[in-house]
Amino acid sequence: MFDRVGQFLKPKQLARMQQSKLRRIVRYAYRNVPLYRKRFDEAHVKPESIRSLADLEKVPFTVKTDLRDTYPFGLLAVPPNRLHCLHASSGTTGKPIVVAYTQGDLERWGRLMGRTLDTTGVRKGDVLQNMYGYGLFTGGLGFHYGARAIGATVVPASSGNTKRQLMLMKDLRTSVVTCTPSYMVYLIEASKAEGYDPKTDFALKIGIFGAEPWSEEARQRIQGAFGLRAHDVFGMSELYGPGVGIECEEQNGLHVWEDEFLTETINPETGEVVEPGKEGELVFTMLSREAMPLLRYRSRDLSTIIKEECSCGRYHNRIKRIKGRSDDMLIIGGVNVFPSQVEHVLMNIRDVGDQYQIIVSHKELDRLAVKVEVPGNRLNDASLAKKIRDDLFAVLSIHADVELVQLGTLPRSEVGKALRVVDLRPKG
Ligand code: AMP
Ligand code: ZN
Repeated sequence: MFDRVGQFLKPKQLARMQQSKLRRIVRYAYRNVPLYRKRFDEAHVKPESIRSLADLEKVPFTVKTDLRDTYPFGLLAVPPNRLHCLHASSGTTGKPIVVAYTQGDLERWGRLMGRTLDTTGVRKGDVLQNMYGYGLFTGGLGFHYGARAIGATVVPASSGNTKRQLMLMKDLRTSVVTCTPSYMVYLIEASKAEGYDPKTDFALKIGIFGAEPWSEEARQRIQGAFGLRAHDVFGMSELYGPGVGIECEEQNGLHVWEDEFLTETINPETGEVVEPGKEGELVFTMLSREAMPLLRYRSRDLSTIIKEECSCGRYHNRIKRIKGRSDDMLIIGGVNVFPSQVEHVLMNIRDVGDQYQIIVSHKELDRLAVKVEVPGNRLNDASLAKKIRDDLFAVLSIHADVELVQLGTLPRSEVGKALRVVDLRPKG
């Protein structure tokens, strides 16, 4: 096993480590990053007053716009010549967020990724086909470093080129795949279209899927089609990249590596800390980041901390699967709707295909339309459309217009994260 000690830290050891690392990183950030010095001074908080984990609440938040406003290097705590790597997050508008790593940061990230892979059962000798994009996106290299750390055989396939992916998967006897869950769902139909039997032509054992929200139902479909065990993995560029949280064999919440990422949930409106077991916005404090320390970084991702012991024996707290980002939430006629809720409903209905699209428009009132792929013989099946509409209403309390469309007609994304929402409402 890789980094068994780190994986199985006992609660007392973990708390001791967190406390001493927290004290150190707060002083380090204050000394080396002008923005932190300003924030602490404005809040009249002395870094020396952060002595225990209970003092964390006094530390001012850091937010995404802090990184945008100080683009590209505003939060650097080291001279630029100490940087060994720069990545940038997929910014949708304007400038991206640039994230920086010292040699020490890269080594730490690699070890955390090694631990993350090991937790899912990946071992030396496994052939890991890494279908996350290599490049500025942290997914590709993050998994690459993890595979290198544990000595698995990494195939740096990167994203896209589906036919070649499938060929490699078969010919190289790939045992582990890593990619976005939406791409793996797409590979179910793509492999059949290419004449493969997903269960018998491939030798997949483990899949590690993340970078976007997905549902338990999508997991069941992937596992059923390929006969593998599918694990949810969570991370974000600002927190090194992937490898912040991973599902163990229990597949019941993601263990967050708390010797590196101190995790809280807050009420996104008031900033108040909410107790474990209640949903809130995840806030992370990186305990060892050298190049770009992040204190109480507001992720905008909504989840719930699970404090209960896990039967796998790891004491790192778990978080529930991410519901979505607060910015992904659609407000439709005053009702909050997360795309992940729609997916949850659709994937539970047996005759529905794997692809869907959510269209929001406004004509006097906000309207929600859902396009769902079904086999040709169900296109005019009014009772199926009604069932989808009723099930959506039961979860969302919204009447949606349901349109059944032919399998294979909705857009698929072969690269990066799925784009499933079209919002046609006028902005502003
Ligand atoms: P990026 O910085 O481009 O890697 O994007 C990070 C964001 O992707 C996170 O803040 C989440 O919103 C989303 N994300 C990453 N992993 C997951 C996951 N396992 N489930 C849901 N959303 C995820
Ligand atoms: Zn566990």
